[in-house]
Amino acid sequence: MPKFKKILHPEKFNLILYYTITSFAIIAILSFVIGKIFARLESQEFIKRSEKYAHNFISHINYEIYKDFLIPTLKKSENIDLENNRRQLRKLDNTVRENLYGLNIRKLYLYDLEGNIIYSTVSEHIGFAIHRGENKKLDSAINGTPASALRLAGTVDSKGTHVPETLLESYYPFYEMNKDGTKKAQVGVLEIYQDMSELKKQIKKAHQKATIMTGSAMGGLFFALYLIVLKAARIINARTRQLTEARNTLEQKVEEQTLEIREAYKKLQHTQRKLVQSEKLASIGTLATGLAHEINNPLASVAGCAEGLNERLVSILSHQGKYTDKEELEIFSEYLKIISNETYRCKSIISNLLNFSRQSEPNFERIDVNQIINDTVATIQYQYPANEAKRKIQINLSDRPCEIIGDPQQIKQVFINLITNSFHATETGGEIIIETKTKKTTVQIIFKDTGIGINPEHLDRIFDPFFTTKPTGKGTGIGLSICYGIIDMHSGRIDVFSEGEGKGAVFEITLPLAGKQDNDMRTG
Ligand code: ADP
Repeated sequence: MPKFKKILHPEKFNLILYYTITSFAIIAILSFVIGKIFARLESQEFIKRSEKYAHNFISHINYEIYKDFLIPTLKKSENIDLENNRRQLRKLDNTVRENLYGLNIRKLYLYDLEGNIIYSTVSEHIGFAIHRGENKKLDSAINGTPASALRLAGTVDSKGTHVPETLLESYYPFYEMNKDGTKKAQVGVLEIYQDMSELKKQIKKAHQKATIMTGSAMGGLFFALYLIVLKAARIINARTRQLTEARNTLEQKVEEQTLEIREAYKKLQHTQRKLVQSEKLASIGTLATGLAHEINNPLASVAGCAEGLNERLVSILSHQGKYTDKEELEIFSEYLKIISNETYRCKSIISNLLNFSRQSEPNFERIDVNQIINDTVATIQYQYPANEAKRKIQINLSDRPCEIIGDPQQIKQVFINLITNSFHATETGGEIIIETKTKKTTVQIIFKDTGIGINPEHLDRIFDPFFTTKPTGKGTGIGLSICYGIIDMHSGRIDVFSEGEGKGAVFEITLPLAGKQDNDMRTG
């Protein structure tokens, strides 16, 4: 809903605000990230430079040790024994320290090829041994390949000493030299620790520089875009204002038109009711004509029979009770039967008419369709015992409750009409099957018979009022149209199926099941 609100109310969208917030967030993130990238590049560059420096320094000190310590010492003594000869050690120490003077080199170690520290600027480390496998970088340099590692402040180096500042630890092969300064053979490893405290400063500087540069470039871009967005926002705002006005007018118009439509609808409903009423009157007129015709015939028979009976009665009375003609007396019974039948026909026609006119006054309540089917069949068995005896009525009702909201009398009327029609359509020995099936929201009530079936041409017209295939005097054609009207009023539908004449017929009613919320009854 809020999403729709935004679309429908564009005036609430602040482009400048969104643009500014988003841009600042992007500038901040990008400046930080680019700063980090530059700082890393700078740091790599600095380390590379330091490694190069270490390389140059070690080549230099290698030569200096050879020139200023080894050659003069070997001239004086036969061999070099730093462990026991303090003088030799001091001389080497002096040579090293002279060369270290003024440089940012914190410590220096000289190893033999077994990993023994034969000299160090940290005197207490002399004599220490670092065995193979304990320090990979040292192992690599012993094998002739220089290696280095950055020791950050707070770490512990391979000799177990705590590193209080950031240092670059580089291992290089130490060579015996020829007189001309060229390398002869590797005799040990030189390790130096370079002070890298400058590195942190360099990184910070690089980060700041990159952040400022990116920030100002992006800031410039932001400002240029801001001017464009500002211009666009002004245009959009003007258009939005127009749109909002149009929308408001439209809303007002829609409201007015809705009111008009509602009024028109009311009028239409009124007219429709009137139309229905007049159509009903017209139907009743047609029905009345039909009825007059229908009732005229039985009444004529009744009158004829009554007259005949009267004449015979007069004749009997004139014979003073000695009337013995059996044939005449049988006619008596026959005439009385005709009178009774024709009178019942009139009654049925009249009650059909009453049902037809009563159908618009439903009385809705929660009813069980299964219950009504059982009641209807019981009523029919009571009213037409002879008819029922000739046919088999099979009832298969759903186990689940089939409750609907409906008028019990009208629903019963529908069932009676359908069962009576099936009676008329089935010969002696026919079968009528009544079933109920429940679906998710509906109940199906099926009336199937093995009767005469329905001509496909008649299927479309079967629910039309006064459509009948029965001979004059036998059917009015109102029954199914009453059924259709009642089911329609109950928001349901009635369908007919037949594969043709002689193949039986199926009437299928679908009605909405009563929901839990339907306890307050519909009023129709
Ligand atoms: P009526 O029974 O008075 O003719 P209805 O409206 O009840 O009026 O039925 C209309 C016509 O539908 C009947 O004349 C008959 O042709 C056909 N009909 C209705 N029910 C059946 C059925 N079960 N089997 C065959 N035809 C049927």
